Amino acid sequence: MITNKAKYYQQHENISSLIDLHEKYIENILLNNGTNSFSEYDFTSLISKESSINLEKLVQLSQKITKERFGSTIQIFAPLYLSNECQNICTYCGFSLSNKIPRKTLTDNEILQEIEVLKSFGFDAVLLVTGEHDKRVGIDYLINAVQIVKQHFSQVSIEVQPLETDDYIKLKNAGVYSVLVYQETYNKNVYKQTHPKGKKANFEYRLATPDRIGAAEMYKIGLGVLFGLSDDWRTEAIELANHLSQLQKKYWQSKFSISFPRLRPFEGEFEPKAHLSEKELLQLICAFRICFPDVELSLSTRERPAFRDIAIECGITSMSAGSKTEPGGYSNSEALKQFEIHDERTPQQIAAMIQSKNYEVVWKDWDSVLI
Ligand code: SF4
Repeated sequence: MITNKAKYYQQHENISSLIDLHEKYIENILLNNGTNSFSEYDFTSLISKESSINLEKLVQLSQKITKERFGSTIQIFAPLYLSNECQNICTYCGFSLSNKIPRKTLTDNEILQEIEVLKSFGFDAVLLVTGEHDKRVGIDYLINAVQIVKQHFSQVSIEVQPLETDDYIKLKNAGVYSVLVYQETYNKNVYKQTHPKGKKANFEYRLATPDRIGAAEMYKIGLGVLFGLSDDWRTEAIELANHLSQLQKKYWQSKFSISFPRLRPFEGEFEPKAHLSEKELLQLICAFRICFPDVELSLSTRERPAFRDIAIECGITSMSAGSKTEPGGYSNSEALKQFEIHDERTPQQIAAMIQSKNYEVVWKDWDSVLI
């Protein structure tokens, strides 16, 4: 997918000339208060090792651009796990087929119980999450679940198995606003090793999923990689940025969001291949904000509270709150979590923290009658 990177590094084999070049690009970006359009050179410079010395300036610019485009607002939402059934083996996930855990798919009544709790917290935006199981959580189950949930929430997003364009059209008609599908890793070898069995083993099919979502004219498409799967987070980030840029050009009528999940402990033994530090993650968030001013940037409860508090002022525009990562987790469940969360504050505590920074908490950012 990367078109220019190899050429770029060939032209600048000498590391000191590469550092000079990065500094020149960054200087130029800061001088111009951002970039006019995405350039792989700019993005690469912004996430380069050398540029971390300019982190304070990057944060200031990222904050300025975010306030210009989004105002001082943070949207909060809750994930609603509908099922932990999965036909795939993903070596890093607690729901993997190979893990002998109790499996659970919520019934209509159980979904309603979860909704009741989430509504009592004040949520109006929800992300429906399932494992990937053709039969247990196929298209008919998903449409039914969306129809139930849509009666109670203005904004319904989904993070489920990759589907065909026709299925995305059906889900959009049922009330889905946004579809998230993470490539996990753009490194084909790592992908093969970490997804050895099931439909998800097909790298190309997953890679083409955002195109099928775009072809369905979905309102918003969410992308991301799982940092820690491969040992080179910078190459993953550059691939992700290129993918986003290509999709934006093709599906200009859709909005886009980027998430920044880092590997967290779960039921299994997968060790992260590389550690993306908090400082580097902050640098990455700034790079995405500077190169993609209008894209929603989202941070989950995987991150620790103190880091999430800082990230709000650095380019993040949306975050999950009070998350439970097991089906039935809000109303009552003993099922196994997909992964451990780090920010265990209640939605009200998170809302209070956001307000204390003079940001407005957005529980609902538009009315469904408008679309
Ligand atoms: S990451 Fe998704 S597809 Fe893979 S095992 Fe977990 S739930 Fe299933």
